[in-house]
Amino acid sequence: MRVFACSFLALALPAFAQVFGCACDSARPETLAARECGLCKEGDKQPAAPAIFFLKDINPRKPNRLLALPRAHGKGPHSLAEMTPAARAELWTAAIEKAKSLWGAQWGVALNGDEVRTQCHMHLHIGKLIEDLETARFVVVDGPAGIPVPPDGSGMWVHPEGNKLHVHLDEQITETVLIR
Ligand SMILES: [Zn+2]
Ligand SMILES: [Zn+2]
Ligand SMILES: [Zn+2]
Repeated sequence: MRVFACSFLALALPAFAQVFGCACDSARPETLAARECGLCKEGDKQPAAPAIFFLKDINPRKPNRLLALPRAHGKGPHSLAEMTPAARAELWTAAIEKAKSLWGAQWGVALNGDEVRTQCHMHLHIGKLIEDLETARFVVVDGPAGIPVPPDGSGMWVHPEGNKLHVHLDEQITETVLIR
């Protein structure tokens, strides 16, 4: 029944909202058949540890992109808000370390908002920040543990500024700040 509900809703809702209807449950692999649950299946192929794993973006038009994902599943569409503060900090820390190792000071990490996510499994986009994108809506934090949780399911992007981090908030499509 659940897999039916998942794919039915994917058809019934506009394409940009497809993860909202997702009621998948990793304990029942048959519920992960929908396309928007593809990253859940990738998670289950990984060893139980480490807690964070990385995948190349499957889109061949985004050859410079990597994804950082928690090994653990959330319920239906995963959200940052339902993760524990420790799990969130672990995800951001791992993503930022990987981004730094690939792109030096030019790294960026982006979380798309719920309205535009096409995969239900929590994932952060890692890449090289496009230059000169600075916008007015950001907060400055000391490190990954200080990155806020958007209360409304909106997205955000993070980049270094000196020895602090800029967290740009209140956006939906954010991965476009990274080179493809
Ligand atoms: Zn799903
Ligand atoms: Zn999942
Ligand atoms: Zn900034």
